[in-house]
Amino acid sequence: MPEGDPSSSAAEAAPHPRHVIIAGAGIGGLSAALFLAKAGWQVTVAEKVEALQEFGAGLQIAPNASRLLADVGILDDLRDFSVEPLALIVRKGDSGQELSRATLGEQAEARFGAPFIVVHRADLQNALRKRVEATPGITLRLGLQLTEALEREDAVTAVFQHGDTEERIRADLLVGADGVWSKVRQLSGLPGPSRYSGNTAWRALIPREQAPIFAREPKVNLWFGNGVHLVHYPICGGEEINLVAVIEDTWQEEGWSCDGDPDVLIQKFAPWCAKARELVAAAPEWKRWALVHRAPESRWSRARMTLLGDAAHPMMPFLAQGASAAIEDGAALATLLTPPCPRPEQLALALKRYDAARIPRTARIQEEARKQGRFYHFSGLFGRLRDTALKVLPGEAMLNRYAWIFEHDARKDTL
Ligand SMILES: Cc1cc2nc3c(=O)[nH]c(=O)nc-3n(C[C@H](O)[C@H](O)[C@H](O)COP(=O)(O)OP(=O)(O)OC[C@H]3O[C@@H](n4cnc5c(N)ncnc54)[C@H](O)[C@@H]3O)c2cc1C
Repeated sequence: MPEGDPSSSAAEAAPHPRHVIIAGAGIGGLSAALFLAKAGWQVTVAEKVEALQEFGAGLQIAPNASRLLADVGILDDLRDFSVEPLALIVRKGDSGQELSRATLGEQAEARFGAPFIVVHRADLQNALRKRVEATPGITLRLGLQLTEALEREDAVTAVFQHGDTEERIRADLLVGADGVWSKVRQLSGLPGPSRYSGNTAWRALIPREQAPIFAREPKVNLWFGNGVHLVHYPICGGEEINLVAVIEDTWQEEGWSCDGDPDVLIQKFAPWCAKARELVAAAPEWKRWALVHRAPESRWSRARMTLLGDAAHPMMPFLAQGASAAIEDGAALATLLTPPCPRPEQLALALKRYDAARIPRTARIQEEARKQGRFYHFSGLFGRLRDTALKVLPGEAMLNRYAWIFEHDARKDTL
């Protein structure tokens, strides 16, 4: 047992649950650690990689998550790194014609009670990590890969591979925040791996001075094409432009940083308008990842194990809710696990309530995200109908349609 680990004798002797191990230090795991520590839990976050890398690109953080990040100081910490977009603009890829524009910025912040922000995943992860490291009661351990979990009535023991050695940590609860290929999910006896969706996301970062002027504005831009769409917005305080192209194809490979051949994209966007082509050509390099999803389940939790984030509900990125929903999960779990020393039967009840509150909500977001993807990629008659509807409807209709997502306060998920 490592020195100073909260799972050592004091926690083992404790008659009631109070030490939680979180497997995975992604956005979901680190934010859950902050919420659970605030709720009075001792937290060990165990992450398999030796160093949290600067992988990834842009994430949209909607008001349903930013209101929760504000609670633990992260919104303030991100002030210099994030961008608060002023509008969401939808365009046709071939002509460049603007189809719709919804106002974001202060107006949306006033309406939903918290801001929409866009941020580099690494900036958000760094801000969370710094807070985690500065919070008494949280221990962050890198290089620990969860391989096994032994659940007993009074405790759960998580088994980790740490280099050549095995390490065991005992706790009252194990939370799997270990992403789409979750080990905790597998150990919980839940259905097997996520499924590839037939869509690949290509992403690039363009330094501000190399990006076309229109792409530097603080706006989220969405372009529709046939079987493809493009999203871009500035991040890193405006210093980088995040560009994501989602393409229907059958490529399947696990990982977040596979190289993408720029010529494939240049060809794909050849029928698009000059502005869009200029933007795609400005990307210095492309990374791609195959998008995965899974059908919702009826349970995530067992007596002393549960899931959150992508481990629980991988979703298509078309509503940009993957990170926000993971943050919501942690906040809801912490609310339900307050106070931190419930008796074992109270822990079981809290986890049941967590499943009952979170599964229907995230299932609805997963389903809406899938539908949204089809809507984005329509062609022919359906494409023309979509474009006409967008032109006729006020831009705010886009926000109204998803107000149920943005207005939600997961701290009240206490069914
Ligand atoms: C490297 C990376 C880059 C990403 N880039 C983007 C991006 O550019 N845009 C975007 O929209 N989304 C991106 N995502 C996804 C996005 O961050 C998630 O969908 C969302 O934030 C939900 O996060 P999560 O914490 O549930 O899962 P994840 O962010 O996937 O985090 C899971 C963590 O668990 C760790 N882990 C896995 N297995 C084990 C194990 N057995 N033991 C211990 N730890 C384990 C992983 O190393 C990882 O750190 C990226 C994810 C990763 C991991």
